[in-house]
Amino acid sequence: MDASTTQSVQAPTVKLLINGKLVESKTTQWRNVVNPATQEVLARVPFATPEEVNEAVANAKEAFKTWRKTPIGTRSRIFLKLQQLIRENMKDLAALLTAEQGKTLPDAEGDVFRGLEVVEHAAGIGNLQLGELANNVANGVDTYTVMQPLGVCAGITPFNFPAMIPLWMFPMAIATGNTFVLKPSEQDPMVTMRLCELALEAGVPPGVLNVIHGGEDVVNAICDHPDIKAISFVGSTKVGTHVYNRASLAGKRVQCMMGAKNHAIMMPDASKEQSLNAVLGAAFGAAGQRCMAISVLVLVGEARKWVPEIVEKTKGLKVSAGTTAGADVGPLISCQARERVESLIERGVQEGAKLELDGRKPQVDGFEKGNFVGPTIFSGVKPGMTIYDQEVFGPVLAIVEADDLEQAIEFINANPNGNGTAIFTQSGAAARMFQEEIDVGQVGINLPVPVPVPLFSFTGSRASKLGDLGPYGKQVVLFYTQTKTVTARWFDDSTLHHGVNTTISL
Ligand code: NAD
Repeated sequence: MDASTTQSVQAPTVKLLINGKLVESKTTQWRNVVNPATQEVLARVPFATPEEVNEAVANAKEAFKTWRKTPIGTRSRIFLKLQQLIRENMKDLAALLTAEQGKTLPDAEGDVFRGLEVVEHAAGIGNLQLGELANNVANGVDTYTVMQPLGVCAGITPFNFPAMIPLWMFPMAIATGNTFVLKPSEQDPMVTMRLCELALEAGVPPGVLNVIHGGEDVVNAICDHPDIKAISFVGSTKVGTHVYNRASLAGKRVQCMMGAKNHAIMMPDASKEQSLNAVLGAAFGAAGQRCMAISVLVLVGEARKWVPEIVEKTKGLKVSAGTTAGADVGPLISCQARERVESLIERGVQEGAKLELDGRKPQVDGFEKGNFVGPTIFSGVKPGMTIYDQEVFGPVLAIVEADDLEQAIEFINANPNGNGTAIFTQSGAAARMFQEEIDVGQVGINLPVPVPVPLFSFTGSRASKLGDLGPYGKQVVLFYTQTKTVTARWFDDSTLHHGVNTTISL
């Protein structure tokens, strides 16, 4: 039996956060939070009851009555304080994240840091949530817009970035005047909870930020709840599509950032050493469990000869627990995830791809029970093979070949996913052609993981995203607000009166 389903009553419980208080769930359904490098049970997470979900939403609804009227400066200062607290606690947050998620400590700090950037952005809300004004649209008439918060908003997050992705959501939602109900991943909720505690310490008032834990039932309750106005979801395409359909049908505003199959194009004129290092870091970092991981490498023209060098370089990566100094590739999140990736590798072999490097069952001294799969490389991969058609979400790189850039672009655009992509070249003309023709949300030019900073917004096209506005950045201010357009005239007693006018003019 997997450690995540066995009972471990000694482990501490993860609390719900309702109305500013950490509360013990009354549920009978619990799941273990397990260190993926050691199988140690770190905590038990509850699957909140329907009553607890309703209580969290009711408190958020009540808190909205006052929070929506909170001055801009007050909201700003809370996020200024929160960014400071996150910086002060960076090492502890990263350690907690590595313990429950598995990624290496430096990568865990990166996870927290990319979320911290959104908190810093939220502190500048006074410059972001500005309306527009047109003076004298008719005689003595002005038109202006105000961007008002929606009410109770909710966030549903995946396991792979348990700090960054919750921080994509609640800071911007709250800074724009909404109240929030967060449902973190049940696989690694502990660092998310710590960040929420810091938010309370920073001054987020009771009821403004609430956290409920759970899985499918809690997510469905969020989708259906009549008092939730908007949902931000990040996770797999299957679940995201379900959330989008169900919550839209219930009349909510929804944005879903979903699965990926990110291709990098290697042109023969690329700066070879740096480009290969960048691609391999993006393929195998976080054990391939990033929505922006490079999982397909398209070698163009003469670059097709680089496979042996790619394999040799990859062999230099160190597989170990995230806490081991110098580790490059940590464990997968669960035993099930490891078994799934191993079976996909086996399918790749059976379906005729050439296994250039087999990372299954690596020797990891001191962490024999960990969910490790080492870097794995296939060449000769084609659409129709399971390792190409599915998102593997593990340290598996599929190499394909193309004669020229046009063919490579056509190949990428034929894949259903459109999350991230990159080109490596020294040709500005090739890079520009790629940028113009590729149908993918995040485009990197000599950059393998082009996650936008919060001055911009994360995006995605085709099967990788549903909803038109992205999380964080400018777009999320629109997502979390309702534009109200006011057309105003102030009567002047000296104005002549012409009686009732029934024509449509101002
Ligand atoms: P997931 O879809 O399994 O889980 C996401 C959330 O949905 C979790 O909170 C989970 O509790 C909930 N959930 C799971 N099954 C559900 C169900 N049947 N019904 C309702 N809710 C359910 O995703 P994951 O495995 O945690 O994360 C990995 C996936 O997320 C990958 O596909 C990855 O590409 C994607 N991802 C995308 C982005 C992006 O920005 N596009 C970022 C990170 C991760």
